[in-house]
Amino acid sequence: MIIPFNKPYMTGKELWYIAQAHANGHLAGDGQFTKQCSAWLEARTGASKALLTHSCTAALEMAAILADLQPGDEVIMPSYTFVSTANAFVLRGAVPVFVDICADTLNIDETLIEAAITEKTKAIVPVHYAGVGCEMDAIMEIARRHGLLVIEDAAQGVMASYKGRALGSIGHLGCLSFHETKNIISGEGGALLINDPELAERAEIVREKGTNRSLFFRGQVDKYTWVDIGSSYLPSELVAAFLWAQMEEADAITQRRLGLWNSYHRWFAASETAGMCQRPTIPSHCVHNAHMYYLLLADLTARTEFIARLKAREIHPVFHYIPLHSATAGQRYGRAHGELTNTEQLSECLARLPLWLGLEEFQPEVERMISGVLAEIG
Ligand SMILES: *Cc1c(COP(=O)(O)O)cnc(C)c1O
Repeated sequence: MIIPFNKPYMTGKELWYIAQAHANGHLAGDGQFTKQCSAWLEARTGASKALLTHSCTAALEMAAILADLQPGDEVIMPSYTFVSTANAFVLRGAVPVFVDICADTLNIDETLIEAAITEKTKAIVPVHYAGVGCEMDAIMEIARRHGLLVIEDAAQGVMASYKGRALGSIGHLGCLSFHETKNIISGEGGALLINDPELAERAEIVREKGTNRSLFFRGQVDKYTWVDIGSSYLPSELVAAFLWAQMEEADAITQRRLGLWNSYHRWFAASETAGMCQRPTIPSHCVHNAHMYYLLLADLTARTEFIARLKAREIHPVFHYIPLHSATAGQRYGRAHGELTNTEQLSECLARLPLWLGLEEFQPEVERMISGVLAEIG
């Protein structure tokens, strides 16, 4: 049995809902399924508006447009993240300013943000790594004092919360992903959560190619026309139909993922005590969604050995990210603020373990093999 890193989970109703969309004859965006998914997101997160997008990348790009960035404006974010977090802002001519992460949660170190602020800073982009909330109270307070926008990259944060509030619903804007490697999926997919109602009308316009088409359909204007910059950020109704099947099962999916996560966590407690690895840390005020289970190994050599030995046993862990400030485009378009010691060190130590629904029956064996490899590499 080969244990892949990821295996997209299907609830069984996806094709049925796609057939319904097909029968309805509405295939472009913003049909019945899109409305149901948006309403679900608004109810679940408390966001004043949720707009489905074709990816979290698209939601981040919309957020960057809504932030009204001018060339040279600065946006503070971690370097330890996926490229889209930075790209969205670079596309607007802004400069990502990378700050270090905390050694326990691998989230942006909120105590380093204020010193990175200049007169060009316009926004802070916390990334909720592994579906574990950043220190949002502190981040929102800094943003308030300096008049900055907060855009949450909650790509990994669907169904997770910070002090009882859904990730993505705390900043002015929040960006979610339904990519097939995330918890709730539609192949490619995402959403923009608009928590500052003042941004809602423009968000609809940006998503509809810079037109006021949405207002026209609601009868709020009598013709629709080009009023702003924008692009086509909405998903097809077929994608929304697929996503609806997943949303219906979101609680059950999250519970099963948590079961897998907790099993790993209990199992590797002994390896951690023996000094062979470090397990993830979940602050007590955060409810996570079991998006990811990772182990931190001693160093790059140990991580490389760990992955190679498990692959030889047909278990496929993966690593990420190459820190953005050290990547070719990161050096060209962004800058690091201060030393990024934790980012540089921990990105070399982290290995993500397989975590997908259906792994349950193999998990005891997978756990035994992994702890065996941990013991071998010391
Ligand atoms: C997955 C991910 C994205 C991109 O999501 P897409 O839906 O694939 O565009 C952005 N940021 C983070 C932190 C992610 O994990």
